[in-house]
Parts: sequence; structure tokens; C-alpha cells
Amino acid sequence: MATTERDYYELLGVARDADDSAIKKAFRRLARQLHPDVSSEPEAEQRFREVTEAYEVLSNSETRALYDRYGHAGLRSGGFQPTQFDMGGLSDLFSAFFGDDLFGAGMRGGARGGDLAAEIEIDLADAATGTTVNVPVEVAVPCQTCGGGGVQPGTNVSTCARCGGSGRFQQVARSVFGEFVRTQTCPACAGSGRRIETPCRECQGAGRVLEERKLDVDIPAGIHDGQRIRLTGEGHAGTLGTRAGDAYVQVHVRPDPRFVREGNDIFSTVDLTMTQASLGASITIPTLDGDDVLEFAAGTQPGQVLLLRGLGMPVLQGFGRGDHRVLVNVVVPRHLSDEQRRLLEEFDSHADERTYKPDEGLFEKLKSAFR
Ligand SMILES: [Zn+2]
Ligand SMILES: [Zn+2]
Repeated sequence: MATTERDYYELLGVARDADDSAIKKAFRRLARQLHPDVSSEPEAEQRFREVTEAYEVLSNSETRALYDRYGHAGLRSGGFQPTQFDMGGLSDLFSAFFGDDLFGAGMRGGARGGDLAAEIEIDLADAATGTTVNVPVEVAVPCQTCGGGGVQPGTNVSTCARCGGSGRFQQVARSVFGEFVRTQTCPACAGSGRRIETPCRECQGAGRVLEERKLDVDIPAGIHDGQRIRLTGEGHAGTLGTRAGDAYVQVHVRPDPRFVREGNDIFSTVDLTMTQASLGASITIPTLDGDDVLEFAAGTQPGQVLLLRGLGMPVLQGFGRGDHRVLVNVVVPRHLSDEQRRLLEEFDSHADERTYKPDEGLFEKLKSAFR
């Protein structure tokens, strides 16, 4: 059964008089775009099967002629069956068919070394300035004793009997794309073509050993909690001299009890006593750049916000900094001596309507500080 009744030319997006190379080109483009391994489009697999079927029909002069004259019905009466295929083995088919690696190196694992993961924790103050951290890791490196070959020095290596030393098998296969030669890695020697008689005693034949290493990790100013830094080529060594993997260092930014970070902005609170808020005061507060003395005017209210523009976190890989906002909290006495109580009562007896009257526009000023 055909998988589609849609027009094959339409599926491939080619004209009815398109030549073979135009059809092949169109299919190749769609296959790259729709392959389920790389496509996030819904129904990519179904569409992929449809364009593959369209290509199968239109790339063969007999089935194409049949389809041109009689459409899908002609194909059915001619006994056409689209080739059933397994999505899993497609990358190999494609590289054989197109003569290149359709999905780019790495999609199929390759033989490069594994990636390495590490985690570090830094202070918020260090995240604000950027820093360099020495990260200890255990990384696989080529074995010095055997030079990475896995063979005990002075002993013999023979040729793999299974593959005759080539490391791979070649198989002629028939597929939807016609006949082609399929290459498989030899399972007996894992592609090396050699049989090791005495494995290296240092690495047990693995060709690699674990080594303690320190990675110097440059942490950019403004980094956020949980971000990862990639160090290309600092991961595990590959086997048989292939390139090393990468190291990924995840950075945790320790919360600072003095500040709350939100994006690139910093928030903190300051406690003023009732009298400091009433009379005005100079108060030392912590900022990311160190202590700063802030002047609070007489009549400062709880909930008031002071904006320290440009004293927040630096913008990661950008310019400028966020802001620092200081929220005022006013502390009210909890325990009064008799004398203090008497003084407050006396103060209160002198208070009138004007004492607590807000300044014009204070509320507007407050609101603008939050923007
Ligand atoms: Zn070794
Ligand atoms: Zn072999």
C-alpha cells in the first residue's frame, strides 16, 4: 500500500517536467529538513515517508511514466509497492546514497572522546566581577606506556582475522535508493583492524588512563546560577588518537544573604530606626562594589525605595549593569522603659495634623523608583 495519495510532484515541490537531478536535489533538501532525527516538526516522520515514496517513484523512469499517465491508480495496478524501511538505519543509507554525512559529524556518535562534566560554586560577589576557578577533574588521557594503542610494549599485535585488518566490512545492500555498498565497523576489533595479544598492563588495553587534572575555568562577569561553560577539547581523550571530548562546567552562584538577585538587578533592605527615619540619617549599606554611605532624608517612610542606578550585576557578555534597589524598613521600638514611654507620650501630645502629612507627589516618586 502506498502511504500517500498526494501528488508526488507537489510533495517534492518540483515541476512535472523536472529532470532527474532536480528531483534528487529537491528530495535531498526535504530529507535533511524532515528527517525525524533532526526535525522538530510534528508529523515529520509521516511527511518524511511521503517524500521518500515520491522520490522512489519519480526517480525511476518506469514508475514515473506510469504515474504520469495513470496517477496513483496506475501505480497500484502496476503492482508498485513503496519500500518499507526502518527509521533507525537511515543515516547510514543517506551517507551511502548522498556520499556525505547528511546530518553532520557527531550525530552518529563518532569515535571522539567523551564529554566531562564538573560543577563549581562561586560567591555572588565573584559572579559580579568575573573570576577564574581551578576545577579539579578526573580525565581520561592517552596511556603513556603504550602510546594509546593498548598494546604492552615489546609484545605482538596480529591482524584481526575477522575483517582482515581493514576494521570494517563492506556489504552490498538493496534499498529504496537502489544498490549501494554499506560499510560496517568490525565488531571483533571495534574498527582497529588489530588483535592485541598482550594488553598493556598500565591501562588494561584501554589505551587511556584516568589522570587528575586542574582546569582553569574563566567565569565571565554576570554569570547566572546554573549556567554551563564549555571548554572545547578538555574532555576525555578519544580512542586511537581521535579528538578529545569537551568539558562542561556548571556554575552555581551561592546566594548572598545581603542581596536578592533578579536577573541583572539586585535588591536589598535597610533597617532605619523610628528616630533615624524621622530625623534623617547617614547609613552604611553593602553594595556589590563594597560599602556605601546613603543619606536618608528626615521623614523617610517604610517601603520607600532608593535606586542605585548601575550598581547591579554586569550584563553577561554585554554592556552595562543592572540596578540596585534598597527597600527601607522602619523598625518600631518593641520594649520601652518607663522614661521612653513618657517621652513618646509627650511627643504624641505635641503631634498635630501636619506631623504626619505626606509631601506632595511622594507617592508618585515611590512608584517611579519601581519602574
Ligand atoms: Zn596502556
Ligand atoms: Zn576486525
